[in-house]
Amino acid sequence: MLMSVLLKEICRVSPGFGMVLIATLGCAMTIVDRGSATAIERHALPLLRFEKIGAWALTEPGAGSDAFGGMRTTAVQDGDTLVLNGHKTFISNAPYADVVAVYARVCVEGSEPLVRPIVVERGSPGFASGPPLRKMGMHDSPTGEIFLQDCRVPWDNLLGTIERRAQPRGSAALDTLNLERAVMPAMCLGIIERCVEESVRYAKTRAQFGRPIAEFQAIAFKLARMELALENARNLVFKLAWAQRAGRLDARLASIAKLYCAEQAVQVSLEAIQIHGGAGYMAELPLEKLMRDAKMFEIGGGTNEIQLQTIARAILA
Ligand SMILES: Cc1cc2nc3c(=O)[nH]c(=O)nc-3n(C[C@H](O)[C@H](O)[C@H](O)COP(=O)(O)OP(=O)(O)OC[C@H]3O[C@@H](n4cnc5c(N)ncnc54)[C@H](O)[C@@H]3O)c2cc1C
Repeated sequence: MLMSVLLKEICRVSPGFGMVLIATLGCAMTIVDRGSATAIERHALPLLRFEKIGAWALTEPGAGSDAFGGMRTTAVQDGDTLVLNGHKTFISNAPYADVVAVYARVCVEGSEPLVRPIVVERGSPGFASGPPLRKMGMHDSPTGEIFLQDCRVPWDNLLGTIERRAQPRGSAALDTLNLERAVMPAMCLGIIERCVEESVRYAKTRAQFGRPIAEFQAIAFKLARMELALENARNLVFKLAWAQRAGRLDARLASIAKLYCAEQAVQVSLEAIQIHGGAGYMAELPLEKLMRDAKMFEIGGGTNEIQLQTIARAILA
């Protein structure tokens, strides 16, 4: 609950900074959920105290929505080390992360490869990251690539076990994805709230044809629809937060909230720009930035289409 409120407030101003925080927390929580006491102490605590920067690396050039099926990054056991080879892309915080939870197919003699997260520290031999990628929005959040070439890390950096029964395929990633989907609606809520506030204030003060533009029904109805989205998004965010607190966070609810809030953040920010006219298009106001940042939420953490697929699967199961 506290996390949702904090992220909502931060994203009123800088959704990109919110992304920086959740990438670090996503990495930390993967370690907390699956790691040994030593791994938690060594890698997760400095992340949770924000003394270090974390990243969570699932996506690859050929593996986006089908992150598991298309994954080519491997981690092969060599005695008491793991040797990683692969290429990750679109990874938040990658250019500067100290610690990365890298997902790879772990290959151990005598058992079939299973996708597991592995802690890789910057400075490990064979680890390299690219410069920040240029992108449409989220400029406060560096996004980049990670290259692993015969990258050696201690076997203990493997998070979880390599027994299928003890840990179903991909579950660590799905847990973190659900967590991401559970906080992203709050981040979208911050964007929606700010856009509604700015638009109401502007519509009441900006006059054309001798009266405030709020008096034109075309503008008033836009504001009414934006308020409707705000109320719905707020309800979903708090429902999610309660479900999480009660340990009842499920993929269906997380996907419903993420899809709805992301779509509304885009719609509401576009309408806010429209209400502000030329001023809304100018970078001096925060609206065009919020709109560019909002679009990311329809893609990152699973696209809108993948959220629809998850919801449909849940109700048809
Ligand atoms: C700013 C930013 C930050 C990111 N940060 C991270 C990060 O920190 N860690 C990380 O691992 N990843 C990160 N990502 C990657 C993100 O999760 C992926 O971009 C996303 O999952 C989509 O994958 P893709 O880009 O390969 O698109 P694709 O999977 O290639 O999808 C292309 C299009 O096809 C559609 N599509 C694909 N499959 C289906 C299907 N079965 N049914 C219907 N439509 C389908 C998609 O919805 C989309 O419209 C980030 C992305 C961005 C933009």
